[in-house]
This record gives sequence, C-alpha cells and structure tokens, in this order.
Amino acid sequence: MSFEKLNLIKPLQKALDEEGYTIPTPIQQQAIPLILERKDVLGCAQTGTGKTAAYAVPILQILYEEKLSGNEKRTISSLVLTPTRELAVQINESFSSYGKYTGLRNVVVYGGVPQQRQTDKLRKGADILIATPGRLLDLMNQKYISLQHIKILVLDESDRMLDMGFINDIKKIIAVLPGKRQTLFFSATMPSSIIKLAGSILSNPVRVDISPEKPTVDAIKQGLYYVAKHNKKDLLIHLLQDKSIDSALVFTRTKHGADKVERFLNSAKIYAEAIHGNKSQNSRQRALNNFKAKKTRVLVATDIAARGIDVEELSHVINYEMPDQSENYIHRIGRTGRAGLGGVAISFCDAEEKLFLRDINKIIPKPIPVIQDNPFPVDEKTAGNYPKSTDESHTRKVRSSGEYRSSGEAKKNNNRWFGRKRNKDNQSKSKSYGRDKTRTN
Ligand code: AMP
Repeated sequence: MSFEKLNLIKPLQKALDEEGYTIPTPIQQQAIPLILERKDVLGCAQTGTGKTAAYAVPILQILYEEKLSGNEKRTISSLVLTPTRELAVQINESFSSYGKYTGLRNVVVYGGVPQQRQTDKLRKGADILIATPGRLLDLMNQKYISLQHIKILVLDESDRMLDMGFINDIKKIIAVLPGKRQTLFFSATMPSSIIKLAGSILSNPVRVDISPEKPTVDAIKQGLYYVAKHNKKDLLIHLLQDKSIDSALVFTRTKHGADKVERFLNSAKIYAEAIHGNKSQNSRQRALNNFKAKKTRVLVATDIAARGIDVEELSHVINYEMPDQSENYIHRIGRTGRAGLGGVAISFCDAEEKLFLRDINKIIPKPIPVIQDNPFPVDEKTAGNYPKSTDESHTRKVRSSGEYRSSGEAKKNNNRWFGRKRNKDNQSKSKSYGRDKTRTN
C-alpha cells in the first residue's frame, strides 16, 4: 500500500515524500483511515513502528480541512500529551516536518526550562500543542493555555505516563477538555491499569494492535552476559573497545549510576556523556544532539531520560544494569532497531538482578540468549547464584552484531516493515561483538 491510497491532502503528501516515506508502516495503514473517519483509537504499538506519523498525519489533515471550510482563527485544537521532555521535543519536530506545507502551527511545552520562550510562542497562536503534563497544568493555571477548543486529544506512551505517576495530572487535564472530542490513546503495553484508564476516556474505540504477541522488535539481536557486579565496568570497557560499535546507548537504573559509568568510560578514553533527570534540560538536549550527530559515541541514560530518544542509526543498546520493570526492557532495546533497521541489545546481569531477568524473560517470546564466550565469567564463588545450562531447548546463536543495519535512509525501513530480504550492502556492513556461542537457561 502506498501513501496515495490513504487519500492524503497534497501538502501532507509532499512533506512525506520529502521525508522519504513511500509506504505507510502497518500502524499507519491501520490508524490513519480510522482517525480520518473521526474514530477514537486505542493503539498498542511499540517504539519504532511509525506511531507518531500514524496520528500526526491525520490530525494535520483534519485540522487543515476544518480551517479551510470554517475560516477559523487559530486556537489550540489538538493536544498531544506525552511523558518526557525529549519525546515532546521529538513529536513536535515530527509535526513540524509533516505539517510544513499546511500552514498549521505546533508548539511544545515541557518542564525543566524557563517558561518564557514557550509562553512567547503560545501568544503567537497554535493549532497543535504537544505537552508534558506538569508544565501544561502549570501554564493552564497561569492562564497561558486554554483547552476549551480541543477537538483531538492524543495520549502517547500512556503506560509510561502512568509509571511516572502522571495519572492525577492527566485526570485534571481531561476534566477541562470538551466532552465532544476525538481521543487517540497509544501505549506500548496494555496492562489492566491502562485498559481501565483507556476505558474511562475513550468512546467506542477501535483497537489497533501492532504485533502485541511479539513485544520485542524482531530485527534486534539480543544477548546476555552473566557477570559479577564488580566486573561490569571492565566488561563494558572491553566491549566498547571494539571499534565496530559505532554508537551505544548504555542504560543504568539510577542517575548516580549513569554519572559513574560516564566517568569511568571517559577515564578509559571512551568518550561518553550522560543524560538523566538531574541534568538541566539544555544539557540533556546538548548531549542528545552530540550523540545524534555522532560527536559522542556513547550516551549513558536512565530509563526516563532515554524515553524520547530516536536515533535512527543507533547500533547498540547495552543494559549495564538490568531494568527493574520488565516493560522497560522493551522500551530500552527499542531504542535500537528504529525505523526498521536492525541493532544489537546486550544485557549485563549480576546475581542480584536475576529476578529482574526472570520477569523480562516472561514477557518476551524467547529468553534472552546467554553469551557463553564471556571474558569475565562468573567465578566459582558466585556461580551457584546463576542458572545452570540445563535447558538447551532455547539454544540459539546470537548472530553478529548490526548485520541488518543499513544507511538509515527511510526507504530502507521497507526491509523490515514490508518483509523484503536484506540486501548485500547490509550484509557487508556486518559487525561483530565477537561472541556467538549462546545458550539460555
Ligand atoms: P516512531 O515510531 O513514530 O518513533 O517512528 C520511528 C521512525 O520511523 C522515525 O525515525 C520516523 O521518521 C520513521 N518513519 C515513520 N514512518 C515512516 C514511513 N512510513 N517510512 C519510513 N520511515 C518512517
């Protein structure tokens, strides 16, 4: 199916052509017609599926057409709520790219920075507002923002917003919205708390599920090192000395942990920057821009800070510390394999983290393959804490890293989303983290 079949207006079609999007991704194929028919949508979609365009494009089309027919003046007609600042910035950039020929204006507001630049922009008028809940409420209370003309509400990454404790803020915001509106609700996971929230704010929604039974992105090669806590540092340095790892996003659970990893990597002459909630928004954005521009090879991040990161050619995700919430494993590894490209996700699991691993293995189709060729094998004293290799039924090889990677141009997304075989060019770019004997327990 091409974008032409979706009957998009010319200003959108032109912008999408320029983005290099030729074929809508599965979620776009399903959601765009429904949204254009003004249905409420409950979308279960993981990162990297093209979810942003799946709602941004039809919203732009609806608002553009209403403007033409009604000669309306600029009021905020659509609100996109999102959990993190980085994600808000990214969604705003997507609206700007897709909507650049529509004449519609989008504005983003998020906390952690002075509000004046945001309020200046709001004063000039906006059709679409992208916001994190806290700053939005703040600006509403100061009367900078009125939501009385909202026609379309989007809740993006709703599971994450609940995890981050935004439920009351969301309820307060929804309470002031017009009852007659279209609501689009997206979440990477659908636990019962999310279904309950969705049930309370959607009316007769159509559900759109993108591979719910396969929560991890297919193209990502996963591998796991069992390693003692005190050896994690050396293992990370050892892996990152492999120059074929172009870019790595290293996850820690805590801000303090992220700072520590940043420090020891820089001492080992592996240039790294950390982003987390204690850093100013400007320094987070700077670190992210350096990483995207490939000025920094390694970005160290906590789960929350990494939430909005979209780096098309990110080759490796390394879980230096296992996530304590299993859904975060999916969110983390989904940072690579974006835009249909492959990637590698490596996890370090120490004895204390085995419980986290057990929970993760329950929600992914197959347990993460264990990398046996481990330069820092667990010593005898702690070995008993690790599962033994009794169950070989999951035995499979972790293929060399990055072999599905390609240049990152949008057209190559087709390889994954539309089932084409990877080409020679991709294969020739294969890299390795050098250990392919694997087993899982
Ligand atoms: P998202 O899931 O919205 O974060 O999108 C993941 C990535 O896919 C982004 O880098 C988008 O620019 C890209 N993308 C979205 N839709 C398409 C499409 N139809 N064709 C090519 N690339 C796309």
